Amino acid sequence: MTTYVYDFTQGDKDRADLLGGKGANLAEMTRLGLPVPPGFTITTEACREYLAQGDEPGELRVQVTTALRHLEDKVGRRLGTRRDPLLVSVRSGARFSMPGMMETVLNVGLNDESVQGLAEEASDERFAWDSYRRLIQMFGATVLGIPADVFSSALDDAMTTRGRAAGDGPVADVDLTAQDLRELVATYRGIVRERTGRDFPQDPREQLDLAIRAVFDSWNTDRARLYRRRERIPQDLGTAVNVVTMVFGNLGDTSGTGVAFTRDPATGAPGAYGDYLQNAQGEDVVAGIRNTLSLDDLHRIDPLSHQQLLQAMRRLETHYRDLCDVEFTVERGHLWMLQTRVGKRTPAAAFRIATALVDEQLITEDEALQRVTGEQLASLLFPQFATEPSDDGAASRALTSGMAASPGAAVGTIVLRSEDAVAAAGRGERVILVRRETNPDDLGGMIAAQGILTARGGKTSHAAVVARGMGRTCVVGAEELDVDEDAGTVTVRASGREPTVLHAGDEISIDGSTGEVFLGAVPVVSSPVERYLEEGLDAVSGDGAAVDDETLSLVRSVDRLLRHADERRRLRVKANADVPDDAARARRLGAQGIGLARTEHMFLGERRGLVEQIVLADDVTERDIALDRLLPLQRDDFSGLLDAMDGLPVTIRLLDPPLHEFLPDHTELAVRVAVERSRREGGGPGELSDDELAADEKKLAALERLHEANPMLGVRGVRLGLLVPGLFAMQVRAVVEAAVGLVRDGKDPRPEIMVPLVGSVRELQIVRDEVESVVRGVTELAGVDLTIPVGTMIELPRAALTAHRIATEADFFSFGTNDLTQTTWGFSRDDVERTLFSTYLDNGVLTISPFETIDADGVGRLVRIAVEESRTTKPGLELGVCGEHGGDPESIRFFHDAGLDYVSCSPFRVPVARLEAGRAATTDAPSSSSR
Ligand code: ADP
Ligand code: MG
Ligand code: MG
Repeated sequence: MTTYVYDFTQGDKDRADLLGGKGANLAEMTRLGLPVPPGFTITTEACREYLAQGDEPGELRVQVTTALRHLEDKVGRRLGTRRDPLLVSVRSGARFSMPGMMETVLNVGLNDESVQGLAEEASDERFAWDSYRRLIQMFGATVLGIPADVFSSALDDAMTTRGRAAGDGPVADVDLTAQDLRELVATYRGIVRERTGRDFPQDPREQLDLAIRAVFDSWNTDRARLYRRRERIPQDLGTAVNVVTMVFGNLGDTSGTGVAFTRDPATGAPGAYGDYLQNAQGEDVVAGIRNTLSLDDLHRIDPLSHQQLLQAMRRLETHYRDLCDVEFTVERGHLWMLQTRVGKRTPAAAFRIATALVDEQLITEDEALQRVTGEQLASLLFPQFATEPSDDGAASRALTSGMAASPGAAVGTIVLRSEDAVAAAGRGERVILVRRETNPDDLGGMIAAQGILTARGGKTSHAAVVARGMGRTCVVGAEELDVDEDAGTVTVRASGREPTVLHAGDEISIDGSTGEVFLGAVPVVSSPVERYLEEGLDAVSGDGAAVDDETLSLVRSVDRLLRHADERRRLRVKANADVPDDAARARRLGAQGIGLARTEHMFLGERRGLVEQIVLADDVTERDIALDRLLPLQRDDFSGLLDAMDGLPVTIRLLDPPLHEFLPDHTELAVRVAVERSRREGGGPGELSDDELAADEKKLAALERLHEANPMLGVRGVRLGLLVPGLFAMQVRAVVEAAVGLVRDGKDPRPEIMVPLVGSVRELQIVRDEVESVVRGVTELAGVDLTIPVGTMIELPRAALTAHRIATEADFFSFGTNDLTQTTWGFSRDDVERTLFSTYLDNGVLTISPFETIDADGVGRLVRIAVEESRTTKPGLELGVCGEHGGDPESIRFFHDAGLDYVSCSPFRVPVARLEAGRAATTDAPSSSSR
């Protein structure tokens, strides 16, 4: 027989899958001997069965009866009886805490009879009727589905009536008399009858069963499903239900209820911290119905309960070895613990608490590393708004909010068109690009803007994905915004408020970490953690650094955990950088080399003409002239990069992008030629000279010859190198000459040559021979000794599947997981992210974009095959990854497990990768970070 019900004395904290988080921790507190009211937990399995079958398993009813009878015997009372009734709460509690599910129902078991018994037992009539009205209110709203405000407005009316009777304004709920509450109960029961067509159920067991069922059903509400989809919580876990003996905080001023934390969850500062409310029940504390008291106040009011609470919290912190939060109730001077869990915290608090616990010798440094995440570190690196914006209402005010899509704090004037953003940025102005949604044409504007704000779209919309990719602050889906590009206005339509009309040129501030949007300029400060990473600890802790103790403590914690991660990690961390400034920055942030230096951008601008000449040349001399002119320019590029990374490896990838990016626009050229021809045919004077026309015609013919239907799968990478003789040789020569020059200056350059898009070992062999002969030629002539490793990207499935062969010609592999994902899935990234992904994420084909986190089952399998098979032919082969996945926490864990030697990511992700590589090395089991 399946056990569907566990008494609190039977469970423990490690069974959260079955008992839910709340149930598992209630059992754990019971085991610890803390004062938890007796109760039992109905398992998530029972919920799954119920949902599958549409009915409770028969055994469940029986087991609930048994558990209830045990409970009644233990406390010496019977559920809802006339004399001294047992009352219970029915509380949902899934594996992960989930707003959007059913609320708790308190005081189950009260009816017209037992309310009398409760009053007699407590010698407090008012209390009994207060409890009864609360039951009908909670039961009515959450079990019977009556809108909650129907009850709260009846309550408001009662408070107004009482106040008027006293010749005053409305009073608080505690001022209602027993008689008022008795009348309110009658009103509430009338509401139930009217709304549901039947009376409020008087049978205590029926109340209990209906409440349990309602908790089960709440697992599948739209709200709950949506929440789980967003948080990537599986849809099939089900929720547990906890049935707990009621204890009462609403028994006058010697009673009360509160929440507390063992440390400050906002800053991580040591010392217990909490809120308390006298004569209150359940969620009154957090609902803000009256002003709360502090724990110090509790100490004054009831020193004994205060002391017991602090002891219990200390006990919990010792036991869980982490920050815990608790819910507690004091019933006439007696403390009861109603809930605990390892508490949520801000990123800053996570770092400070982790190192504080190491200092207190409660956890090891390895464990401390598990308590923080790369994402938390990343969020500490972004600039921040200096103060709570609402404090200085004069300069700025909250306008609206959307989804936090890419963190950071950005201030600028509104522009509605990408061209305008580019133009404004050219004039040195700071702008925020505000659009309904963005598309690939907005790229230029997005680069030029300080931040991006859209009215539509979610966290995987074009704006969100692109902004995150380039580290630009972004808020998406601010639905109250109505963006009218033609009128040049942005209208904010918040319900219940007059619309606010903004114009292009108005200043706004957006917070990409919270999704908030403000009117006006909120002051921005650079992050102290960022300052520390770039300039060292002294920059923050030295005299005149002017940071407060809390900030200093945070920076010290980050420093300590990063250094520990560096000691423990097996993966090296390199950066993707193509220009000396980025390389230097990456180096300051801890990069151990450059894993990917792209050479594409070096061929843009004025140099493009030269490349065009190389590609279209129809005789060797013409091509050689262009190559000769490019050589010194490339040499300078590489020299700067190698110098910035002196002593560290720099992997230079030979030219990769598709051919057409270097050629003139076909349509434009075709039109020009056609117009000229028709002019001449019409007998009129031409606009071009004969030579010009001939040159254009030649180009046009070449373009038509080279036209590709699908350039991403066409002539690019190594294919281009083999098609255009001399191109790769020139690049390699530039690299070697740059290195030779640096050696002569007494430096230690470490270039490596990487060949892109190889699919067959023969391709690599041909290029490798060419590279080696150039290297030999240049170094022998210069009399300088240089070894330059030659390796390849693994970015085609065929490369991964023939890795054992390709390895024979390679000194290293670097997994280009961006293209490997495109070619494995057959996805064209820019196209599918825009059109397909939101549907695929909604219907569960994807749980996350495979371009963000590596698709372990598919693309990852190719990586594993390539790792394993390449090392059979070449055991010491150096293996790394240079796709954007190199900076993604979950992917880093995968690469660690797969046995790679390094990850390479964008410079600003380097600290994140260092931390995550350390975390991966200090756990065996892959653990998704706490939700
Ligand atoms: P949530 O998950 O929203 O916190 P809870 O199940 O913890 O919901 O309950 C809501 C409120 O009711 C909390 O303040 C809790 O402490 C209180 N509560 C729950 N069960 C009892 C009980 N048996 N006696 C007194 N208060 C209770
Ligand atoms: Mg709640
Ligand atoms: Mg709770």
